[in-house]
Amino acid sequence: MTLCHIFVYICEFKTKTMEQSKKYLLSEKDIPTAWFNIIPSMPVKPRPMLNPATHKPLTVEDLYPLFSEEASRQELNFTDSWIEIPEQVRDLYKIWRPTPLVRARGLEKMLDTTAKIYFKNESVSPVGSHKLNSAIPQAYYCKKQGVTNVTTETGAGQWGAALSLASRMFGLELAVYMVKISYNQKPYRRSIMQTYGAEVIASPSMSTKAGRKIITEHPNYQGSLGTAISEAVELAVSTPNCKYALGSVLNHVALHQTVIGLEAEKQMEMAGDYPDIVIGCFGGGSNFSGIAFPFLRHNLSGERSTEFIAAEPASCPKLTRGVFSYDFGDEAGYTPLIPMLSLGHNFSPANIHAGGLRYHGAGSVVSQLKNDGLIDAVDIPQLESFEAATLFAKSEGIIPAPESAHAIAAAIREARKAKEAGTSPVILFNLSGHGLIDMTAYDRFLAGDLANYEVPDNEITDNTRDLEKL
Ligand SMILES: *Cc1c(COP(=O)(O)O)cnc(C)c1O
Repeated sequence: MTLCHIFVYICEFKTKTMEQSKKYLLSEKDIPTAWFNIIPSMPVKPRPMLNPATHKPLTVEDLYPLFSEEASRQELNFTDSWIEIPEQVRDLYKIWRPTPLVRARGLEKMLDTTAKIYFKNESVSPVGSHKLNSAIPQAYYCKKQGVTNVTTETGAGQWGAALSLASRMFGLELAVYMVKISYNQKPYRRSIMQTYGAEVIASPSMSTKAGRKIITEHPNYQGSLGTAISEAVELAVSTPNCKYALGSVLNHVALHQTVIGLEAEKQMEMAGDYPDIVIGCFGGGSNFSGIAFPFLRHNLSGERSTEFIAAEPASCPKLTRGVFSYDFGDEAGYTPLIPMLSLGHNFSPANIHAGGLRYHGAGSVVSQLKNDGLIDAVDIPQLESFEAATLFAKSEGIIPAPESAHAIAAAIREARKAKEAGTSPVILFNLSGHGLIDMTAYDRFLAGDLANYEVPDNEITDNTRDLEKL
């Protein structure tokens, strides 16, 4: 055997074990110059958000005490399809954008599927998730109007980490209310935020009225996103020169995330394909909207008929089993009333490891699109999500975030369906983040300690019964 033979042998051996996936890269000049606002293209516009005190449609001024003025304007912008990305924001995006689009040949081979699978890799951001796409513009708009302090909440810690870094970039002081169970179970995300200089408080806390009330009534309560939002909002509106920032659910957050899909559109073109199916995991809807809306605009204009699938956890099934109604975005009822598919703002989801997907409602745009049959949703049980995650890690080398694993599981379902039907659809999913700080969750999966959680019908009925009255 010559050296050359050995080399060929090694290469063949390699291809037999793990396929090399193909990457499609853009250059900095391809970072979008404007975000895509889907609302003007929607056949049925979302119903207006309501001021909870007056029950009148929310005005931009109603939002000013909460958010920066520009974020408030973007939130209620029903007319401009394209909103310019400020130069300073685009420059900071260059730290990690454009992100790669990858043809997942390893996964295709592992599944022996006839489908083509692509994923957009948002895990390459410095904080490991897509959240920085919105954290940077939100911090920028605060800084621009002279705000000095920002508050927010975080569940699993990804949004908190992203806003901590974005606040650092613009010299803002940040206080993060972190859901108590995550604060204790995910110490590394807490230290990431503290490393960037943020103050992190376990929620519920004694520092707010909303927190004190819950602690008094339920001393052992381990917290929820809804409660943490109440605390962060309360602190923001009662502190001078302080604004609140939210990492999901709202229109302006989905807007900022459209850089994902706009880049992916160019990269799919480079690959010579167009997706038949676009998939994103679903917490409040920001990464799903980010990958989906730019492609969805071609469905709405009649040029394409792509299928869109939001993958939510079976333990928090707002899209597939929620009620379409006005509801609060938080537990205490401080936020505007949002028209949403909701499990009720008092819904307490099981403690699954995909903490970022444990939210009771879906944003108003996604809720309306789902209601009008323009997008679909599937529920993924926890064990299936981790099986998909490990399959992906073994075939593509990336350990996905437990949240992103829901999108992978949905993509695998579609790839298996294609194999059975003998079709070859082009599947694109968003890898919203990596799971390198979530290894305790993987440990528990590998040890066989994880379970599935089904939500009984009566729990949903009980939690949504009073929504009509809001
Ligand atoms: C926060 C988060 C999610 C869920 O939030 P969306 O707003 O629905 O995108 C999903 N994946 C990762 C990695 C996250 O950090």
